Amino acid sequence: MGTNEDKFKRVISHAKEYGFIFQSSEIYDGLSAVYDYAQNGVELKNNIRQYWWKSMVQMHDDIVGIDSAILMHPKTWKASGHVDAFNDPLIDNKDSKKRYRADVLVEDYCAKIENKIDKEILKAKKRFGEKFDKEQFVITNPRVVGYKEKISTILSRLGKSLENEDLEDVKNLIIELDIVCPIAGSKNWTDVKQFNLMFGTKLGASSDTATDLYLRPETAQGIFVNFLNVQKSGRMKIPFGIAQTGKAFRNEIVARQFIFRMREFEQMEMQFFVKPGTQNDWYQKWKDTRMKWHISLGMGEDNYRFHDHEKLAHYADAATDIEFKFPFGFKELEGVHSRTDFDLKQHQEFSGKKLQYFDHELNESYTPCVVETSIGLDRMFLAIFSNSLCEETLENNTTRTVLKIPSFLSTYKVAILPLVKKDGLSELARNIYNELKLEFNVTYDEKDAVGRRYRRQDAIGTPYCITIDHQTKEDSTITIRDRDTMVQDRIPLKGVENYIKDKVSFNSALSKML
Ligand code: ATP
Repeated sequence: MGTNEDKFKRVISHAKEYGFIFQSSEIYDGLSAVYDYAQNGVELKNNIRQYWWKSMVQMHDDIVGIDSAILMHPKTWKASGHVDAFNDPLIDNKDSKKRYRADVLVEDYCAKIENKIDKEILKAKKRFGEKFDKEQFVITNPRVVGYKEKISTILSRLGKSLENEDLEDVKNLIIELDIVCPIAGSKNWTDVKQFNLMFGTKLGASSDTATDLYLRPETAQGIFVNFLNVQKSGRMKIPFGIAQTGKAFRNEIVARQFIFRMREFEQMEMQFFVKPGTQNDWYQKWKDTRMKWHISLGMGEDNYRFHDHEKLAHYADAATDIEFKFPFGFKELEGVHSRTDFDLKQHQEFSGKKLQYFDHELNESYTPCVVETSIGLDRMFLAIFSNSLCEETLENNTTRTVLKIPSFLSTYKVAILPLVKKDGLSELARNIYNELKLEFNVTYDEKDAVGRRYRRQDAIGTPYCITIDHQTKEDSTITIRDRDTMVQDRIPLKGVENYIKDKVSFNSALSKML
């Protein structure tokens, strides 16, 4: 499907053309980095959220869910550190007038070196054939070792400078690495400045009494402030988790990658409260569990990797990203963070309310530590959507566009297609539709030739098409076509529900994680 850039453009245009994602307020030329989910997109998004909820909340007897408000008391964000430290370092190019995240410019530079490593590996693989030992190669080949050292030196300097707020050094690094503006091609950079990402708003009608609020930049704080409410009302014993999904808002500096980086997005987070001292074990466990969750989707293990953080946020004692291979390279999809007892202690201090857990077995109170898993629903959508979109050349040399979404997440599970509208086939098909819609999300289509209808369903990822033809009237059998293999089976109408059920339910994917 051409270059990765072409592929990404196709993803964006397919999402629009087939009713998955539209630019927000498009008739007014759109609002930058804000998107609407369309008729097909909302179903896929809901299914992803539901799959996450089922596996994280309902499959764990030690995790419960909540749904806290987007607006919170302003002190929350003082306590959490967001007012003072939720900043991104920005830099402008004076020629193009384009704004960049300084850390991302440096990271992209390193990604280019990574690409060189991949090329060396590919070359060596060709040269050595079957005998090729990748692990050995990457630790012994001098060129690859050199590249790796270079990346590590650059990233650790970036990490240190950001940690020490040494923005001058971040700029120096950009200059030293000869990083140019991708638009202007020049090195005419401004100084690096910090920029707070929170959106402000006001509560109250009169301007004198109105209170300044923020739209939450993460869902986590709604969980921390409710920690004791949930623990007490649910009689929860440590270790236990609280999960939620919901909107978060960030005034991102650079938002040019479709739904990868949005200003309004949705998070699916789980904060797991543990006894201090045990957080590292839980951190490892949640790293593992979350990777298994991703692998359960069947999109290929090679598309995921961990990226352990060099630079830790002010609240963390360990952190990793689960990265996914998007069309524009490996990028963060989910974060797993060991947040220590920072958040609860801060809220305790700022609210003056005790936020401790009384451990009956130890007969003592303590402030629990937190291990969190935090994933962007929209990024997950993009991962699935971009990975599933393919163009296939068929035996007769025609092509088809097919969205090979994991069946249990697809918008529709089945399409009901009468072969022709006449001879009572429409009525028969309608009856089947009415019966199956009780169980699955089903679509009905009787327009155009059946071949074209198959293509339309392929393009939106419907795993099964049921065709009702004249034989159906005679012997109550239908044909069922599989999206991926395009094989058609004739089966009794009676058995259809069970035939599909197994394949489109969460069960088989969920059981991979048990
Ligand atoms: P990044 O480094 O890409 O800005 P982050 O490290 O700030 O992300 P977290 O604060 O850890 O992200 O948020 C957890 C998850 O929320 C991320 O892994 C990502 O999937 C999602 N997320 C964060 N910011 C955005 C955004 N602007 N648009 C869409 N999803 C986002």
